[in-house]
Amino acid sequence: MHLLEWPSPNHDARPPGGIIDMLILHYTGMTSGEAALARLASPDAKVSAHYVVEEDGTIWRLVPEDRRAWHAGLSFWAGRRDINAHSIGIELVNPGHEWGYRPFPEPQMAALEALAQDITTRHPVRPEFVLGHSDVAPQRKADPGELFDWVRLAHAGIGLWPDFATAPQAIPPNAAAAQRLLAAIGYEVPQTGALDDATRAVIFAFQRHFRAARCDGALDRETLARIAIVAAAVKGDEGD
Ligand SMILES: [Zn+2]
Repeated sequence: MHLLEWPSPNHDARPPGGIIDMLILHYTGMTSGEAALARLASPDAKVSAHYVVEEDGTIWRLVPEDRRAWHAGLSFWAGRRDINAHSIGIELVNPGHEWGYRPFPEPQMAALEALAQDITTRHPVRPEFVLGHSDVAPQRKADPGELFDWVRLAHAGIGLWPDFATAPQAIPPNAAAAQRLLAAIGYEVPQTGALDDATRAVIFAFQRHFRAARCDGALDRETLARIAIVAAAVKGDEGD
């Protein structure tokens, strides 16, 4: 795998003793790859990622993996808030929902697969800790979005994609059950028992990752079933 260097000053030391066990995927959400690289290396922007993958498959390294890159911002997963401390951040060049969201092309996906496989040989990243920015910041972020091919990545051995054909246990079709299961997966979700705006945003994030055919924040039967299946898969993986 060929890496090009585009050093960014936007990083600091990881906290001592912490392990790197998460992989967070983003899109750049800017009009071009050049603009994104410029911003991610600008001292004023105070944002970065470890890697940027362009649509033609070019991979740039911005921050060494042993340093904390500033990519996730205010975020949460499975009880953790300092996601940057524990993660490798990868930015995929894509205009995003604001500038003309489009599919991630084959060369970009192939390069990402190779990069992610390389990272997971060096760091103990469990499948359920391969996440989108929207998973760890569902109230603020939509990237990498519903066009990202999580199924393909899982087939390459990266990330969680359970068999959704399995019948889940009977789940009460209510907000409280969904909130409990989403929290068990790792999401930060209120436990109000109501489909409030914050809960809908988390359901939307779940759909972007695990049910891209329907992204509307609604708790329909299929979405609820998939939430239950993912929760069971995460629980089973933790028990290994
Ligand atoms: Zn992001």
